[in-house]
Amino acid sequence: MEHVTARGVEVPALGFGTARMDDYETQYRAVEAALDAGYRHLDTAQIYGSEPAVGDALADSDLDREDVFVTTKVAGAHETYDEVVDSVRESLDDLGLDTVDLFLLHWPVDDASTAERLRALNDCRDDGLLRHVGVSNFSVAQTREAVDLSDAPILTNQVEYHVRERRDDLLAYCLETETMLTAYSPLGVGDLLDDETLGTVADRHGKTPAQVAIRWLLQQPQVSTIPMSSSPSHIAENVEVFDFELTDDEMRDLFDVTGGIGDDLAAVLGL
Ligand code: NDP
Repeated sequence: MEHVTARGVEVPALGFGTARMDDYETQYRAVEAALDAGYRHLDTAQIYGSEPAVGDALADSDLDREDVFVTTKVAGAHETYDEVVDSVRESLDDLGLDTVDLFLLHWPVDDASTAERLRALNDCRDDGLLRHVGVSNFSVAQTREAVDLSDAPILTNQVEYHVRERRDDLLAYCLETETMLTAYSPLGVGDLLDDETLGTVADRHGKTPAQVAIRWLLQQPQVSTIPMSSSPSHIAENVEVFDFELTDDEMRDLFDVTGGIGDDLAAVLGL
């Protein structure tokens, strides 16, 4: 498994998303299949209801705890210092873990103090409840503010990013600051798999559109991604993305789906 180095921390570049699955059984079987297939980075959140299944599947696997990078997120409903600390403890309880690798603020909350919420995560980190701090759905300006407010480095900003959704400004920021950009919904929740360019590139490599969509993200420096699937065959398919490489022209063709790469981004990405 390849890694992204974020603020000196190595994170498996490909993770497994666990949203959108309704029941414990489905979540458990999906995470079990993902670990069997070789994923070593799991993405969960309080609001997905998948923390218990993630924790159980991990505990029941043969893997050592330190071999799997686990991310979870504080829901936006937890606005105050005490609410955030309580919710971290609740997540650990649900996961059955002593510590998680990365805890994110799931989204910015207008009426809440980011300073207070980050102070709570930093204090939880000091108490050993989590190893790293990050954010999700933050703009670049909000990310910069979070960096200023947090004693611990902000390891990632997890945002929607895929062939049809650009994040040029955040990507440039992440490259500049060795922050990880974690791309969620890398398959556009399944909707972008009929894209013509993805199909053409996939045929050329004997791969599927999903594999090319994931590979396009992983070939961008500082980018990790967390596709979700409840199907064992898709779970296995989505991890087979390290045995081929897109050419610079193919990377550009996929940027053309959303209007072209532009000189600045091309320079930043070395394309
Ligand atoms: P994805 O882009 O990962 O797409 C998931 C959908 O694609 C499912 O319907 C799945 O169906 C289908 N799919 C998966 N693999 C294949 C394949 N190889 N071929 C065809 N269809 C496929 O969507 P998500 O929005 O779930 O994003 C991934 C993860 O990102 C989430 O699970 C969550 O962990 C995280 N996330 C974070 C957010 C945040 O606010 N921080 C917001 C949204 C997501 P099937 O089950 O049938 O395979």
